[in-house]
Amino acid sequence: MLSTEQRRFFEQAVTQYQNDLAADTGAQEYLASRGLGPEAAGQFRLGVVTSPLAGHERYAGRLAIPYVTPAGPVNIRFRCAEAHACEGHAKYLSLPDAASNLYNVLDLKKVSPFICVTEGEIDAMTLSLAGLPAVGIPGVSTWQQHYARCLEDFDVIYAFGDGDDAGGKLNSFLAREARARPISMPKGMDCNDIYREHGAAGLRALID
Ligand SMILES: [Zn+2]
Repeated sequence: MLSTEQRRFFEQAVTQYQNDLAADTGAQEYLASRGLGPEAAGQFRLGVVTSPLAGHERYAGRLAIPYVTPAGPVNIRFRCAEAHACEGHAKYLSLPDAASNLYNVLDLKKVSPFICVTEGEIDAMTLSLAGLPAVGIPGVSTWQQHYARCLEDFDVIYAFGDGDDAGGKLNSFLAREARARPISMPKGMDCNDIYREHGAAGLRALID
């Protein structure tokens, strides 16, 4: 559980990094290239770390992806903001004392017969924007058993692992742990690739 002070700090950080993004056209362009325009950035409270809060100095220059809950943001992950393979540095950084959370839990409240599960925040945002309610996990190793209970009220749980070996493993894992139905993703593609090439209809076609 976070203390009131910790919650305030997350809210303050998320607001600061949203303001930083509003002044950073380079970061805005990067997000737009992933299909995350200003409206999506606002909806998911995305930011960029230009003026790091105390303790966040090592995240300077990175995208800030907040884990927003009905009670406000409870975690932030920091993604490299460059379109490259991230050699010599981590694509994602987490806070050192961070708990493991499901990403985009607000979608669990949507009225829908199904929920999608992705690996990573950007794919969860992408599906959600396409009208497919979705939550993300940062990786199989971060899975917690209570996540299955968060998903169990949905008639169908779709596993949207990437179209590669790691994605296949994620799908098998989710089938086992959360009775998820694996989606067969085109080889070498992820949700975001499909959204950019074929739009929301391309993603919806995968579950039909
Ligand atoms: Zn990088």
